[in-house]
Amino acid sequence: MGLEEYKRKRDFSKTSEPQGGHGGREPIFVVQKHAARNLHYDLRLETDDVLRSWAVPKGPSLNPSDKRLAVLTEDHPIDYANFEGKIPEGEYGAGSVIIWDKGTYENVSVKDRKEIDFSTAFEMGHISFILHGQKLKGEFALVKMKNRGEKNWLLIKANDRYASSDDVLEDMPKSIISNKGVDDI
Ligand code: MN
Repeated sequence: MGLEEYKRKRDFSKTSEPQGGHGGREPIFVVQKHAARNLHYDLRLETDDVLRSWAVPKGPSLNPSDKRLAVLTEDHPIDYANFEGKIPEGEYGAGSVIIWDKGTYENVSVKDRKEIDFSTAFEMGHISFILHGQKLKGEFALVKMKNRGEKNWLLIKANDRYASSDDVLEDMPKSIISNKGVDDI
């Protein structure tokens, strides 16, 4: 049913009632390291009661000069952010999944120097966000590639005090929840 009617009846610039979505808390993000046929990292950002998801074959980088391909995949349920385990052989995405990083994020997207919400930024093809993770911190952008269809985006670290040439994938390969590697699942 969703919250459309609830939202339609209320002017949230006037009432302090919750807008829904995430109960007033910061939206969450998760990066799941997924040893499927090809190892990749799934970046998921909470929006509109789902996790908007991108598969990042080479994983995120803290180096602003690395532009990492991020392929838009289907929205996942919010609870998926807690999933760590093995997807059985024969099932979609078969292989091990660990919660490589997780935390909250802030949408800081702008257009014409005005703040815009996540869904507007998504439609525009340029989302700026600040991650508050254990491994990933600071501002990143997801930018839709031109003339490459709807699915091909780039994940790019902004040049802030968290930018680094350290290899965060090599240096911190394990789950933040269980301290397991993908081979331990
Ligand atoms: Mn995946």
